[in-house]
Amino acid sequence: MASGPSYFDDPRNKPEVIDPPPKEDMLDIRENVNENAQSALKPNPAVTSGVRELLNCPVCLNAMYPPISQCSNGHTLCSACKPRMHNRCPTCRHELGNIRCLALEKVAASLELPCKYQGFGCIGIHPYYSKLKHESQCAFRPYNCPYAGSDCSAVGDIPFLVSHLKDDHKVDMHNGSTFNHRYVKSNPHEVENATWMLTVFSCFGQYFCLHFEAFQLGMAPAYIAFLRFMGDDNEAKNYSYSLEVGGNGRKVVWQGVPRSIRDSHRKVRDSFDGLIVQRNMALFFSGGDRKELKLRVTGRIWKEQ
Ligand SMILES: [Zn+2]
Ligand SMILES: [Zn+2]
Ligand SMILES: [Zn+2]
Ligand SMILES: [Zn+2]
Repeated sequence: MASGPSYFDDPRNKPEVIDPPPKEDMLDIRENVNENAQSALKPNPAVTSGVRELLNCPVCLNAMYPPISQCSNGHTLCSACKPRMHNRCPTCRHELGNIRCLALEKVAASLELPCKYQGFGCIGIHPYYSKLKHESQCAFRPYNCPYAGSDCSAVGDIPFLVSHLKDDHKVDMHNGSTFNHRYVKSNPHEVENATWMLTVFSCFGQYFCLHFEAFQLGMAPAYIAFLRFMGDDNEAKNYSYSLEVGGNGRKVVWQGVPRSIRDSHRKVRDSFDGLIVQRNMALFFSGGDRKELKLRVTGRIWKEQ
């Protein structure tokens, strides 16, 4: 079985270029929608889609970028997978050697492909080699779920994430640009790092996440409250917010700019970009016998002119 020219039976050797695309992925569906706009760049969508498949590494299935390697039989392989193949072609098991597939690299350079977030509304068409860079910054790329405290893998646009927070995380949703929020926790000495809460505020036609959590500030246990904007950074900068917490005639005030949820919850917290109160102070604000955390956080969000 292993002897003989097994590579002739390899399905990858079939003339995929003239075959219709085997699976109806998003790209192929949208190609028809945008036919007029793209026809100048892509005279034959079926050919382009076939070439695109040739540019997928047979091992990791990712798009290949230079240097693209090939075996002496012409099977191609990406530069990330090649070192892991112990000099054997993954397709035909022949010796891999050090042959670069310049022809395929040049074909790739001539391709213009739609952004992979087309389904989210991006209409960008990009040269093959700059497509990745665009996609890493594409304004239509989905957001990660802003809920902290669990490794939620949900991604989507803002309306999707708002419903997801409401339905799946049972997050408190509030309308309005001012808030008055009470955080109560018994035994605040017990858990060092696990108190986190999220409230979502809707105002100015936008959504904001108010985070509150316990963390270690150096050696001292502390609490931090901060706001994140459900949208991109350039829009987040149009807003400001203030937070206030106090008791017993003292108070701490914070004014800041909400961070985009593109910045992870952890990143914002670790840059201390919010209202920070040490636990001693928080318990003092709580009054009583310091056995219970009872913090009242008031705040306001406004739009900068
Ligand atoms: Zn690969
Ligand atoms: Zn081979
Ligand atoms: Zn895009
Ligand atoms: Zn989630």
